[in-house]
Amino acid sequence: MKITAVRAAIPRGTNEPRDWRTQMAQIAVTVETDEGLSGLGVGGGGAAGVHIVETVLRETLIGADSSDLEGLWDRMYRATLPFGRKGLAVMALSGVDLALWDLAGKRVGKPVYELLGGLKNPVIPVYASIGAVVTDQVERGFRHVKLHMPRPSPGFEANVEVVRQARAALGPDVELYTDAFLAWDVEMTLRLADAFVPFGVKWIEESLSPDDLDGYAELVRRSPIPIAGGEHEYGVHGFREVLDRKAHTILQPDACWCGGMTQLRKIYALARERDVWVVPHRGVEVWGLHAIAALSDNPLAESGRPWVTWLRGEPPIEHGFVRVGDAPGFGVELDPKSVD
Ligand SMILES: [Mg+2]
Repeated sequence: MKITAVRAAIPRGTNEPRDWRTQMAQIAVTVETDEGLSGLGVGGGGAAGVHIVETVLRETLIGADSSDLEGLWDRMYRATLPFGRKGLAVMALSGVDLALWDLAGKRVGKPVYELLGGLKNPVIPVYASIGAVVTDQVERGFRHVKLHMPRPSPGFEANVEVVRQARAALGPDVELYTDAFLAWDVEMTLRLADAFVPFGVKWIEESLSPDDLDGYAELVRRSPIPIAGGEHEYGVHGFREVLDRKAHTILQPDACWCGGMTQLRKIYALARERDVWVVPHRGVEVWGLHAIAALSDNPLAESGRPWVTWLRGEPPIEHGFVRVGDAPGFGVELDPKSVD
C-alpha cells in the first residue's frame, strides 16, 4: 500500500485562541494510499508543524510502503535530525506516525490496541486534570484528581493552602496528584513535598525544567512523594536518559508529541524493564488510550483538554472511567467542517 498523499492542517475550532498557529497548536495529519484507505493522526507544532509535515516529511513518505512503521519512523527522524531530535519536529512527526498506525489498523480491520498485543484494559479509570477543585468532579464520579498548581508560584504557604483546600473538598478517598508545570525549584519542591504528605498527594509533576535532570534526580532521591514528568520529553533516546539518571519515578509521554506510537510503545517497554509507571499525558485521547489499553499494568488516563474539539468518535468519560472503542485504527474521524 503505497503512500500517495500526506496532508496537515490546524483544524478550525482547535486550541485556545492564544495558541492559534503557535507551536502549541495541535495539528491533524492524514496519510492517503493507492488502495483508497487513509489514516488520521494528531501531532503538535502548530503552523511550523504543518510546514514540516508538508515539506520534508511528505517528501520522505510519498511512494513509500505505508506498512513499514519502523522504517518510516527512522526515515522521518533522520530527515529532520539536523534541526529536529526533540521538540517541534518530533511533535510534527508524531502526527504522521499516528496516522500510519491508524492506517495499519484499518488495513486489517482491527483497533490499534490489537496491533500492540491485545486488549488488556477495556475500561480505564480517568483522572480529572483541573485548575481548581469543584465538588462537581466528585459528583461526576472521578476517583482521581490532578491539580494544576498556580503559576507563577504564589509561594510555599499559598501552595500548601491550595492542596489543603483540595483535600478538604474531595474528601479522603479520592487520589490526589499535583502538576507544577515548571514553576518551582528543587528546594521549593522538596519543602512542598514534605508539606503535602499529610494530604496524601500521590505524585508531584514537572516542577522543574525538563532539561534539569540533575535536579529531578535529587528530587527522586529526597522527595517522600513520587516525581512525575515526561510530557516535554521526546523519543526513546530522551526517555532512556531520564530513566538512566533516575530522574522520574512516573513517566508521562504524550503520544502526539513524543514520536507517536512507534516511540510510545518502546518507552513502555523500557519503563517495564525499570519497573517505572507510565501514565501518558492526556491519555484519555485515543492516541494514548490505545497504548494504555494494551500495555499498562496499572491503567490510568488523564482527562482530555479543550485543545482538540474537531474529532468525532472519541470514547466518552462516564463516572470517572473510559471504555476504549473497538473500531478499526484509532476509531476517530476529523469533523469535515473543521478543515477546507
Ligand atoms: Mg503536566
